[in-house]
Amino acid sequence: MSYVDEVIAKVVEQNPSEPEFHQAVKEVLESLRVVIEANEEKYRKDALLERMVNPERQFKFRVPWVDDKGQVQVNTGYRVQFNSAIGPYKGGIRLHPSVNIGIIKFLGFEQVFKNSLTGLPIGGGKGGSDFDPKGKSDREVMAFCQSFMTELCKYIGADTDVPAGDIGTGAREIGYMFGQYKRIRGLYEGVLTGKGLSYGGSLARTEATGYGLLYLTQELLKLNGIELAGKTVCVSGAGNVAIYAIEKAQQLGAKVVTASDSTGWVYDPDGIDVAALKEIKEVKRARLTEYKNYRPNAEYHEGRGVWSVKCDVALPCATQNELLIDDAKQLAANGCLAVCEGANMPTTMDATEYLQKNGVIFAPGKAANAGGVATSALEMTQNSERLSWTFEEVDAKLQGIMVNICHNMVDAAERYGMKGNYVAGANIAGFEKVVDAMNAQGIV
Ligand code: NDP
Repeated sequence: MSYVDEVIAKVVEQNPSEPEFHQAVKEVLESLRVVIEANEEKYRKDALLERMVNPERQFKFRVPWVDDKGQVQVNTGYRVQFNSAIGPYKGGIRLHPSVNIGIIKFLGFEQVFKNSLTGLPIGGGKGGSDFDPKGKSDREVMAFCQSFMTELCKYIGADTDVPAGDIGTGAREIGYMFGQYKRIRGLYEGVLTGKGLSYGGSLARTEATGYGLLYLTQELLKLNGIELAGKTVCVSGAGNVAIYAIEKAQQLGAKVVTASDSTGWVYDPDGIDVAALKEIKEVKRARLTEYKNYRPNAEYHEGRGVWSVKCDVALPCATQNELLIDDAKQLAANGCLAVCEGANMPTTMDATEYLQKNGVIFAPGKAANAGGVATSALEMTQNSERLSWTFEEVDAKLQGIMVNICHNMVDAAERYGMKGNYVAGANIAGFEKVVDAMNAQGIV
């Protein structure tokens, strides 16, 4: 059995009931097969892959808090510190009822390669809880965040592990967590990113993932001789990534016609009204059903359906496994030119393969959504300097980083004879740097 297959089999056996983690490991190792087989003997002797698929450490903890009725609630908190070969662990905190250790490990594993790809000195980690901030009062969210941080603060720090936002963790939650960290540890340090501007946050962090996605998409299309301006774009999601992806796509001259949330989706033939979307989702925290009140010409549909709309570019920006094989077939049949992932692993493996085989340009989230973590790293730099850069400075750096990631991904794929396979390209480029650092640091 090849080393890759051996390690995949071990991961499945040793981590039962973690299908998302299996999926992420398979996706990464399969695409690295050529690189690994070229060094099989050495890697096997060093147990390199076993060390890569096992987190350096992981924490699971109780998070008790009191709800508005005086009832004690108990959630489970997680932090997985996956790999620190190239820098302190870095990765978001996901607050969603679906969170379990397998989801956090899949996200942490992917984060290692994504962070490496940015070219910045950050290792990979991820955390979260099965707490659902939706429908909770501000006081309840604060109570949860304070309890969560009371335990988490033992394991993190500006030079060890720097969490950030993710699904369900926005500026409000980061603020409560930062306050509690400072109170318990007595340290005013850049221990979290995605902070508010008045206490060490970076300008352009809010926009970074969505904007970065478009910078990479535009560059990748350009390398393939395609102009983004004038194209029709379908976006899924209506959260942080989706909103700023839509905003930047429109600034770059494309027309975005869809958005979605966990209950339904909208089709707006005149182009999504970003101001309305921001008001519905960022201010009112309401459902997309409200969109029609702002744009009577738009259609609202219950359930899924974004990928049935004809488009040139598709940007899945909601959650994992939201673009399935039938969606991929529909997109390709409708003449879609490119799918670039704003979310983490939104496209299933069979859908990805179908798109690649049918000539659709496919940029994996690891590269395409790395703008968020890259700007988080820029926030860490500003915190260390005790300075704040202007929006334009951060945005220009973000643009440079995304263009660089795009070229590294394209070049790595070509170097190993897989021109146009950007999944392989992104994984190889990220993997090479981590391997180099791990080898230099000995067996640790
Ligand atoms: P948000 O919580 O702000 O938004 C998520 C959006 O996706 C919401 O519109 C939500 O709907 C929708 N959604 C969630 N679950 C489902 C589901 N099961 N089916 C359909 N829609 C769903 O999260 P973000 O925008 O921050 O994150 C989106 C994705 O991008 C995630 O995969 C995240 O890991 C990834 N990512 C985020 C980064 C960031 O900087 N924020 C950085 C890199 C990756 P509803 O409004 O109903 O909740």
